[in-house]
Amino acid sequence: MIFEGIESFLGNTPMMRISRLFRDLNVFAKLEYLNPTFSIKDRPAYYMIQEAVRKKKIHPGNTVIAATSGNTGLGLCLACKINQLNLICTVFDSVSIEKIALLKSYGAHVVVCDSDVPSDEEGGYVWVAKSLSQEIKNSVLIDQFVDINNPLAHYQTTGPELYEQLRGKIDYFFSTIGTGGTISGIGRYLKEKNPSIKVIGVEPEGGIYRDTFLQKTPLYSDHLIHSISDNFISQNMDFSVVDDIISVKDIDSFRLCYELLDREQICAGTSSGCVLAGIKKFFERTEVINPEPIITTVLPDCGLKYIDTLFNPDYLEQHDIRLDGKSDDELRQQI
Ligand code: PMP
Repeated sequence: MIFEGIESFLGNTPMMRISRLFRDLNVFAKLEYLNPTFSIKDRPAYYMIQEAVRKKKIHPGNTVIAATSGNTGLGLCLACKINQLNLICTVFDSVSIEKIALLKSYGAHVVVCDSDVPSDEEGGYVWVAKSLSQEIKNSVLIDQFVDINNPLAHYQTTGPELYEQLRGKIDYFFSTIGTGGTISGIGRYLKEKNPSIKVIGVEPEGGIYRDTFLQKTPLYSDHLIHSISDNFISQNMDFSVVDDIISVKDIDSFRLCYELLDREQICAGTSSGCVLAGIKKFFERTEVINPEPIITTVLPDCGLKYIDTLFNPDYLEQHDIRLDGKSDDELRQQI
């Protein structure tokens, strides 16, 4: 079959059983890094731009402005080029150099903001995107934290694909949470199909979604899984489709990325490690009544975007991530 236009390759990603890594559990993962710019965020980026064009909110030659941790920006590069739009991305300074270099290579203008400032406060990357959109003529803010086309992309594409691929035989769906688009869109679709499917969020320790879900006062602290669990709650997060949110240590997320590479030869980014660490932790602690639950998830992006962090021994050492031994934190807990 001959395809025309890179957008023909959006979605319809393969589903793979992760059986060499999880020998005792039925874990199926949708390989979302096989989207055109190597992440799941191509789907909502395309949806948000197509809708804005359809509703005549943007016209060729206009400038799109978006706050992004990189992947949505890359998806927007694709959608903007197709629609002859300029693109300005605001990112925070801890976004990987690979993502920033890729954004620039695709032709986006990148504004790097201070990650110490809360994202939606003055100087933070979400705040800067909003204020640029007020200053720049003929510009439109694409706000993935608010735009309903973000979860809708997953409700209309990722969710149905995942459900069909497993022929509806699903007991658990696990997802990390950034804007909440993935978990809210897929979660809503699955719950409508079968309310007994459990939807479980996974975040790094330090994230604020778990405490918010448990109705505790959340306290954000820095973590190393930069594209998820930011320091504010996204409006697009729909807690009503979620059954539980668990948190995992950064070192376990990193470790699972290496195990995934070693056992399955899948090179995925840190949020993929995070969700797999979450599945592992959840089933170490949960007594499962159904003897062979079907567990599914998505692997959001590609490990090649993290060569300077996840796959850089100096970076791991600087952050006390000792994958062959125990971390200081783990040793301290043993004493
Ligand atoms: N993983 C990666 C690598 C991401 O870039 C994102 C989005 N920032 C997510 C997970 C979370 O996706 P969502 O925004 O749909 O919650």
